[in-house]
Amino acid sequence: MTNKAKKSEYAQREEKILAKWQRDKTFEASLKKKSPKGDYTFLDGPPFATGLPHYGSLLSSEIKDAIARYQTMRGFHVHRRWGWDCHGLPIENMVEAELKIPDKKAIEDKLGIAKFNEACRKSVLGYAKDWKVFVDRIGRWTEFDNAYKTMDSTYMESVWWALKQMWDKDLIYHGRRVLLYCPRCETPISNAEVAMDNSYKQVTDTSVTVKFKVKNHEARIMKHGVPTYLVAWTTTPWSLFTVFGLSVGKKFDYSLIEYNGEQLIIAKDRVEAVMEGLDRFKVVKNIKGKDLIGLEFEHLVNYFYRHPEVKGNKKVYKVYDADYVTVEEGTGIVTINGSYGEDDFNQAQAQGLPVVMDIDEQGNFKDDVKDFAGKYALNQNDNIAKFLDDKGLLLRQDKYKHPYPHCHRCETKLQYRALPSWFINIQKVKPELLKLNEKINWYPGHLKHGRFKKIVEGAPDWNISRNRYWASPLPFWKCESCTEHVCIGSLAELKKLSTNYNQVYKSDDINKVDLHRPFVDKVKLKCSKCKSEMSRVPEVVDGWVESGSAPFAEHHYPFENKKIAESRMPADFIAEYIAQTRTWFYYLHVISTILFKKPAFSNVITTGTILAANGDKLSKSKRNFTEPTALLDEYGADPLRLYMLDSPVMDARDLFFDDRGVSEAYRKVVQISRNVVTFYESYGSKLTTKDLKPSTKHVLDKYIVSLLNQTATEVTEAWESYDTIKVGKSIRSFITELSTWYLRRSRDRFKAGDEDGIKTFGYVLLEMSKLLAPIAPYLAEDIYERVKGPEKSVHLDNWPVANKKLIDSKLLDQMELVHDIVERGLAARAEAGVKIRQPLTSYATDLVKKLDKDLIELVNDELNIKSLKFGKVKLDVKLTGELKLEGLYRELVRTINGLRKKQGLTVADRIVLNYETSSKDIVKVFDTWSKEMQEAILADELLAGMVDDEVEVVEVNGEKIKIKLIKK
Ligand SMILES: [Zn+2]
Ligand SMILES: [Zn+2]
Repeated sequence: MTNKAKKSEYAQREEKILAKWQRDKTFEASLKKKSPKGDYTFLDGPPFATGLPHYGSLLSSEIKDAIARYQTMRGFHVHRRWGWDCHGLPIENMVEAELKIPDKKAIEDKLGIAKFNEACRKSVLGYAKDWKVFVDRIGRWTEFDNAYKTMDSTYMESVWWALKQMWDKDLIYHGRRVLLYCPRCETPISNAEVAMDNSYKQVTDTSVTVKFKVKNHEARIMKHGVPTYLVAWTTTPWSLFTVFGLSVGKKFDYSLIEYNGEQLIIAKDRVEAVMEGLDRFKVVKNIKGKDLIGLEFEHLVNYFYRHPEVKGNKKVYKVYDADYVTVEEGTGIVTINGSYGEDDFNQAQAQGLPVVMDIDEQGNFKDDVKDFAGKYALNQNDNIAKFLDDKGLLLRQDKYKHPYPHCHRCETKLQYRALPSWFINIQKVKPELLKLNEKINWYPGHLKHGRFKKIVEGAPDWNISRNRYWASPLPFWKCESCTEHVCIGSLAELKKLSTNYNQVYKSDDINKVDLHRPFVDKVKLKCSKCKSEMSRVPEVVDGWVESGSAPFAEHHYPFENKKIAESRMPADFIAEYIAQTRTWFYYLHVISTILFKKPAFSNVITTGTILAANGDKLSKSKRNFTEPTALLDEYGADPLRLYMLDSPVMDARDLFFDDRGVSEAYRKVVQISRNVVTFYESYGSKLTTKDLKPSTKHVLDKYIVSLLNQTATEVTEAWESYDTIKVGKSIRSFITELSTWYLRRSRDRFKAGDEDGIKTFGYVLLEMSKLLAPIAPYLAEDIYERVKGPEKSVHLDNWPVANKKLIDSKLLDQMELVHDIVERGLAARAEAGVKIRQPLTSYATDLVKKLDKDLIELVNDELNIKSLKFGKVKLDVKLTGELKLEGLYRELVRTINGLRKKQGLTVADRIVLNYETSSKDIVKVFDTWSKEMQEAILADELLAGMVDDEVEVVEVNGEKIKIKLIKK
């Protein structure tokens, strides 16, 4: 934003206003403004500062700013403090790349956690300065430099406090669950995060259909002496070595078929599909699913035969019943592998089958898997297929296309993996979560009982542990000897229970203590049960616990600011994009419900997703969008605000971002209203604010005052229901009407010096600037300053409450009829091919039986007719000599005013008109209309003849005239 030359005049004007706000500390003043209505609480969600802001971040800044400005004008105090999300994988991945750290092992073994975390701390706010430029430029008022940070020790202590509350309520447990896991980042990734950033990508994998050999001969099922196999299908061949059971559906029918001298068991409905393209086979008989249960089979490969959990285990290598088996795809027989699948894990737990990990944390096969040891498991599918084929255990191999989850941070293919983790028990609090959702106003409303309710209903327990470094450490200490665990809820408690606090920390002031790893890891406690040493568990907390704690952790609650924090809960308003429904909004709701038994927010605006004009994701590499800076320089911030806040994205739908929308908002709102103000300045610049009051003498003044107050009512209602689309539409339509009807029809009146009219005009513009202030803060300031003077800011003024007495509803309705009549009348003229400047005798309308006299005059003027009649529609196109002359007069005026413009004359310039003509009609016009002519062309004199050579020869309605304009 440095290249001044490229900036438009309006963009520069905005920047001047911004500089003035900064110089005058207008934002600070707005916070100190009288707030008779008290506090309106707003909670700002903390973004990561790991990249530049994009249109999505600008949009959320725009909406947050607009609502806060509106509420401030309404008489509320709106505390606005920025926040930064500092922890977690985004920043860790960035630092790993900066320091060229190949894997997680290198962090611990080579660099050390202390240095790694220090590097994270240094880089985390790397883009904060760039954010500030954008946030300021977009017109967002917020306490940016006083931002709260999730990495502050005070913030982290509040997070500990929150966890301790949940611990004491017995809502935190340690368990093993199958979670999505990134082998590169070596940590579980939440489903919500994968869903949020749409990290599913279409991939083509190798699927295999493999044969498990039946061990025991069951005469009721199979023929003796022929090898018999249970056939199973999987899209993850790499997971086959730790399969310890098979599931079937007891209600399904299965077929025994003969194929290549073997017998195969496949679900009856799947036989055709499974055997498609293979050699001939024969169905021998059908078997009930329930008859397969208990059947024993041999392992595919004997890697784990001697494993302590497998050896002597009577449950392994048997067939079980399971609800999740279907005959929609596959073979109707499903492998049970508790290590790498959620259903499988539950089934393994239920049946007492072992859960053995044969892949290490980096995603490589362990040594037990002799033939693939050290190989990256997810890459071995084809090799495994070949390996099994060589052993005669592969029935078929296919390509399988499916959406597959990838790490939202490093894009590595994720893997399901059974992991020991810490969880918040969501199932226990679910009824309360649903109940408190009823107290929240969602915008748009359908989210309440739609998407959000479904998310809550289907929510699994919340895995809050991450096997990483740069985050709040989990405050759980575990005994080395017995099973005792404790949760620490504050620094003071840590000091009290610790055996070596003073060796680790030099202070007990939270502001001087670094709670991050590895320091906190060194603090040891003594077990109250067995007196052994207790050490902190290695995990750190999921970043959503931190951002979800923002309502109170921002204030270092409950250690400080207890009253302030409590008075701000629930927040009156929060706003983010739709994907936060399952993340930030959800986690805020969970934490607040558990801790405070109330919702975290009362009103929530959910915006949609911003996509490229063609519907693709916005992508830097595809260059499918214009950089925000370029649009800000060309059109300014307000057109961007007007465009986005008035678009479907505010209805939580997708916005296909189109620069033309921004340019349209510029032309239709900014440019038009500024032109209107420029016109006002020629007549009203000497008026003071006290002079500006509405007059109702002239019908047009009465009308625009009615419309203004009507618009104020509409806009207020729209803000109260957080409907910015309606705000935008309402203001746009007012500005159009002001310019293309009120001002156009009033121009001559103002030129002629109608004082009441000009005062009304000024009053309307001033009130309009207030209505514009929340949504277009710069334009509003520009108008306010030009009409009222530069002393005060519009943002320190009060919201214009509509004066109901000034709304003449009958007049508003009638004016709509006038518009209709005019529109049809003009269409009739066009159809008859009569120029608008040619007066006609009459037009008859059937739209209305009668109109007030002054409205009839408006129609007559606009349609250029002598009289409006009511009845059967008819345009009288017969021309009398008089009408012809009048038409000629009007054409002449237009031509001469065109010449004035061409010579660069302004409304302040008076002229002498010299003319020479042999046209009898034109001479007649000058005779009949000289007075009107002088007024219309701002001429002091009309001089016939004596024209020198610098003349314009023009033709008007076929009559020639020579003209010269002499500026006085
Ligand atoms: Zn990753
Ligand atoms: Zn113990």
